[in-house]
Amino acid sequence: MRHTSAQFVANAHAALNDAGLQPVLNAVALFLPAMRAGVMAQTPDFEAMRDYAVRMKDHTLEHLDSYLADFEARVSERGGHVHHAATAADLNRIVTGICRAAGARRVIKGKSMVGEETALNDALEAAGLEVVETDLGEYIIQQAGEPPSHIIAPALHKSKEQVAQLFRERHERGERDLSQVQGIVREARSVLRERFLAADAGITGANCLVAETGSVMLVTNEGNGDLCSTLPRVHIVVTGIEKLVPTLEDAGALHRVLCRSATGQVTSVYTTLYSGPRGAEDPDGPDEFHVVLLDNGRRALLGGKYRSMLRCIRCGACLNHCPIYRHVGGHAYGWVYPGPMGSVLTPLLTGLDQARELPNACTACGRCEEACPMRIPLPEHLRQLRDDAAVQGLTPPAWRAGVTAMMTLFRFPALYRAVAALGRPLLGWLSRHPALLAKLPLLSGWAAGRRLPAPQDHTFLGHWQKVHGARDPEQRL
Ligand code: SF4
Repeated sequence: MRHTSAQFVANAHAALNDAGLQPVLNAVALFLPAMRAGVMAQTPDFEAMRDYAVRMKDHTLEHLDSYLADFEARVSERGGHVHHAATAADLNRIVTGICRAAGARRVIKGKSMVGEETALNDALEAAGLEVVETDLGEYIIQQAGEPPSHIIAPALHKSKEQVAQLFRERHERGERDLSQVQGIVREARSVLRERFLAADAGITGANCLVAETGSVMLVTNEGNGDLCSTLPRVHIVVTGIEKLVPTLEDAGALHRVLCRSATGQVTSVYTTLYSGPRGAEDPDGPDEFHVVLLDNGRRALLGGKYRSMLRCIRCGACLNHCPIYRHVGGHAYGWVYPGPMGSVLTPLLTGLDQARELPNACTACGRCEEACPMRIPLPEHLRQLRDDAAVQGLTPPAWRAGVTAMMTLFRFPALYRAVAALGRPLLGWLSRHPALLAKLPLLSGWAAGRRLPAPQDHTFLGHWQKVHGARDPEQRL
């Protein structure tokens, strides 16, 4: 997909002016947090679950190479293959190569954020393969030619009417009733059933990889992942190296926090563990089983200040609780990962120069950190990224000049007091002339939708002196 994170501000303006998008986002912003809140009320030990998941994940990341080696050994013992992809292009080349070697022409796919990250569909189609997404949301956006707008609900930005219209355009099925969700889902199921039965290879993501058993855990609510992995001759798992957990018990611990945080469920509808190709005694399953592990910048995070980002289990809770995401939706973020986790991860994976605006897409309300089951300090990471942008000279000159002016004021108290004394009448005057305020450089955007309130008739320092008899707070202390 085209990377437009550098144009976040323009993208956000377009989303805010999209009259069709705003009601959908408003409904979702109420619905998903309410589902999570409902299950949390029934889970008094959720904090203990979180603590365990965080400790376990930190331990795994500290010993990642050892657990990767264990996982690879177990998969190989069962007749599967593990491949390592350093970059997005490597992953696409490896998957295309596996499909070609197996003589595959038709590929079905379950939802995979790693597949989105590497633009896997584009690569497979360029190699002459036919690829069909089978998660309903992913299928809808594939038909619409759009990227996902949410990491667990990719077509969240589309209304029922828009999907019905899309299906009328894409499926030649004559007159039928698509006015209700049931009719739309029935049609998608019938189209996809033919694709499942005809597919040569199936690609899925993974929610975690279990080192002790060499198993891949996949969590879905539609069951499409299981059809992708068991019906075709070849099953290919594409996932990131950070998905490792040491034991099956740890996979269960992650599953408990994932389902509750993502969709407010105690458990998902389908949870499956895949541990290799079909064995001699198995009634079904693929002839070939491949796991392709993507690095693509993840290893570089292991030893640094952003390591906690590798704990992310892609539950989407931070998106659902973010006031910025709620207003601009996922496409405004310009790449695969939206919301608070995307505002951190996108600059780290694609370069801060490609996504400098994203760390500013934050009101510092802290709701994302409260909701994150893996206790990732997202607001702190966003502040660190802003700091990095300043150190790397990526902030605009006007911004730097403003920060330098503020620093100078704060370093010289006499200057601060003089400017504050002058500023109060000036702000009072500007509050009575909003048209003039809207013409001032740097303030026009802010003033376009707001009125400047008139300041009090005394400054904070003046008030302090009057009440406490001291010239400034430091003197009193
Ligand atoms: S950052 Fe936390 S809340 Fe957001 S998707 Fe990742 S695990 Fe979920």
